[in-house]
Amino acid sequence: MFCYQCEQTAGGTGCTKVGVCGKNEDVQSLQDILLFSLKGIAAYAYHARELGKRDEDVDAFVHEALFSTLTNVDFDADRFVELVLRAGQINLRTMEMLNNAHTERFGNPTPVSVPRGTKAGPGIVVTGHDLLDLYELLEQTEGTGINVYTHGEMLPAHGYPELRKFAHLVGNYGTAWQNQRKEFDEFTGSILVTTNCIMIPKESYKDRIFTCGIAGAAGVTHVKGRDFGPVIEKALASPPLPDNPQGTLSTGFHYTAVLGLADKIVEAVKAGKIRHFFFIGGCDGAKPKRNYYTEFAEKVPPDCVILTAGCGKYRINARDYGHIDGIPRLIDTGQCNDCYSAIKIALALADAFGCGVNDLPLSLIVSWYEQKAVAILLSLLYLGVKNIRLGPSLPAFISPNVLDVLVQKFDIKPIATPEQDISEILK
Ligand code: SF4
Ligand code: SF4
Repeated sequence: MFCYQCEQTAGGTGCTKVGVCGKNEDVQSLQDILLFSLKGIAAYAYHARELGKRDEDVDAFVHEALFSTLTNVDFDADRFVELVLRAGQINLRTMEMLNNAHTERFGNPTPVSVPRGTKAGPGIVVTGHDLLDLYELLEQTEGTGINVYTHGEMLPAHGYPELRKFAHLVGNYGTAWQNQRKEFDEFTGSILVTTNCIMIPKESYKDRIFTCGIAGAAGVTHVKGRDFGPVIEKALASPPLPDNPQGTLSTGFHYTAVLGLADKIVEAVKAGKIRHFFFIGGCDGAKPKRNYYTEFAEKVPPDCVILTAGCGKYRINARDYGHIDGIPRLIDTGQCNDCYSAIKIALALADAFGCGVNDLPLSLIVSWYEQKAVAILLSLLYLGVKNIRLGPSLPAFISPNVLDVLVQKFDIKPIATPEQDISEILK
């Protein structure tokens, strides 16, 4: 454990074995899980609030959960387990609120094939989560001759009718956040970062990268009030991008679109044409062990369907997976907050088959990196989802005893090898 939040901290530096106050490592672990999930909830609530949505219950829970972690408030591990699961419930509500904010403002996403690479001419690439930032930029760049590209978690923007109506939203550039220093270096136009996924920029592009909203980096121009004039001026003054098409990616499988295929999906499962569904998604990151997810998707048998969400999709989405009876074998439901869509799809399938989610031929292969993923994981646990395979490594803030509880209650397990995990799941 590590805690240095109060004056009596051990040795004036930090409590690492047991708290001077009496807090043990399991309560500390549960408090950390709670605090980290609040960061994820705050991120989704922030985006929803930017679009005019807020929820009193979400706000009240954030206050209660933060208060519960004060020194000497509570050392009852069971109460923290309850709070942690309630955080999952509140995150589900927050993801729903953000989903509604997005669809009310930009329409229900529909499946779309998105060109990858660049088109000749000046360009701006937009990364992060904030669809309103992208919308405002598209309005302000209309008629300027600038092509706008999505990057990373912004890819699902192409699915929304009110965003893709802009003809100069021309495609997707690059991959996930951890590759941005190479990809932004090679992108000659302006770069706009709308959320936390910014890496410390290289000097080579520091003068043409901009932040807005919550994002910021020392020495980088921060745009206030969604006035993207400086981003546009820089794009027009920078060398144009080359014509460099690189195929297509698919996205936009919002639950409303997938549920339109529900009858076909149920029929294909009953006829034995679809054997299993794998959710392979979550975060991307730099660890070599994340190749597990690429290899896993490659080894998924042809009679199985893959669902995905989050920036982990870039580990698997460059391949053409084909279709089963007109049902795409790769279904990208969107950003990590659109795990809400994946959950809605799973619940609807369980309903159609008259069973629980854990009885569906569905397995979750989840990659995590940061705190939004912690909040989503808690939402899955709150829903009682079992057998999640989590990687590439287990969170350092989960104590051995808390991990035991997760294993006993939810059968959560670390990833092994793709071969081993697939054969165990399909046996
Ligand atoms: S709250 Fe408890 S565990 Fe944390 S620094 Fe203070 S005494 Fe140590
Ligand atoms: S939580 Fe994960 S999927 Fe979402 S933006 Fe962060 S790294 Fe990507």
